[in-house]
Amino acid sequence: MSEIKTKQIKAFGTKAADAPLNLLPINRRLATAHDIEIEIMYCGVCHSDLHTVRSEWGPSRYPCVPGHEIIGKIVSVGPHVSRFKVGETVGVGCMVDSCRDCQYCKEDLEQFCEKGMTGTYNSPDKHIPNGHTYGGYSESIVVDESFVLRIPENLDPAAAAPLLCAGITTYSPLHHWHVGPGKKVGVVGIGGLGHMAIKIAKAMGAYVVAFTTSESKFEEAKRLGADETVLSKDPQQMAAYRGKLHFILDAVSANHDINAYMALLRVDGTLALVGAPEHPLPISAFSVIGGRKSFAGSLIGGIAETQEMLDFCGKHNIVSDIEMIDIQKINEAYERLLKSDVKYRFVIDMASIKK
Ligand code: NAP
Ligand code: ZN
Ligand code: ZN
Repeated sequence: MSEIKTKQIKAFGTKAADAPLNLLPINRRLATAHDIEIEIMYCGVCHSDLHTVRSEWGPSRYPCVPGHEIIGKIVSVGPHVSRFKVGETVGVGCMVDSCRDCQYCKEDLEQFCEKGMTGTYNSPDKHIPNGHTYGGYSESIVVDESFVLRIPENLDPAAAAPLLCAGITTYSPLHHWHVGPGKKVGVVGIGGLGHMAIKIAKAMGAYVVAFTTSESKFEEAKRLGADETVLSKDPQQMAAYRGKLHFILDAVSANHDINAYMALLRVDGTLALVGAPEHPLPISAFSVIGGRKSFAGSLIGGIAETQEMLDFCGKHNIVSDIEMIDIQKINEAYERLLKSDVKYRFVIDMASIKK
């Protein structure tokens, strides 16, 4: 590894799982040959940020600077960058690198790279010995151009930021399991991911049923595009959908009864889990054997598919419903996220980090 030049910038992160996020300095490499340096304008707040900051998925690397729904302006490019120019508005999602050589990388499935993809945060940094990656709760980021996305010009950049994770994480399984006209699709958990799933499944032509534990979202889910809404705490409302759905996308961030949703699938139906709760979810054998059902999962999406999703959202004018915050409000935002109290994605106005 040759000597890498870095510069210090401002970021927000934490040094321990039980400590709040605070202003801290980090070092970013200067753009190398294929790199793009992006001044970050907006960064969405994903529930994965909270899981990672608090080491809920196993020990994280500290200091931990989260954020993988990044939109910003290109401020410099390396000498070999060919696809982007200074001044363009671009996006960075959940990955910033992968091996690019294994069977999955070659199939545009970098998220399943055999050598392990490089996450935008909390992954070993290939450029800095013993270093790890820092995410978008920061002034700027440097990313290889192959992992930078184009943002359709008709989309509001702040509201487009959540597409980089919540958008692709829901688009990819909806696409993979052929959601479209004639399909009845359930979306469980109307948070950042769930509300995008409603919008995208609707645009794909499906009939969408939203399942929420929050009374305040019951009517709103229809405004987001759902054809019907179910208050999942009410067993009678749940019973009305037994055996009715072709596909369910489950985007719940905490423990819940998965068997209650498996029961809503038709024969040969699939429930795909994208939510990643801290603890295992028990599933009964009888939830899958009766009805030949599938319990599946999905992880974000590849770079080419992320661009396809962005272009789809551009064509259908789909963005996230956001609540903009200053970075200094991030700890409060996390507490509200835990109470399912956000409609429907916090987005950080990153100019606030200069305050
Ligand atoms: P979020 O905005 O906090 O939404 C989660 C929703 O789950 C809440 O709004 C709530 O919906 C529901 N919920 C929360 N606690 C619940 C409980 N105890 N019982 C039942 N329902 C509950 O989170 P998010 O950012 O959308 O992320 C959702 C999950 O997906 C997280 O675990 C995140 O780490 C994971 N994720 C996975 C991937 C992937 O690639 N697979 C990518 C990104 C995120 P209602 O108010 O409607 O009930
Ligand atoms: Zn995410
Ligand atoms: Zn690979």
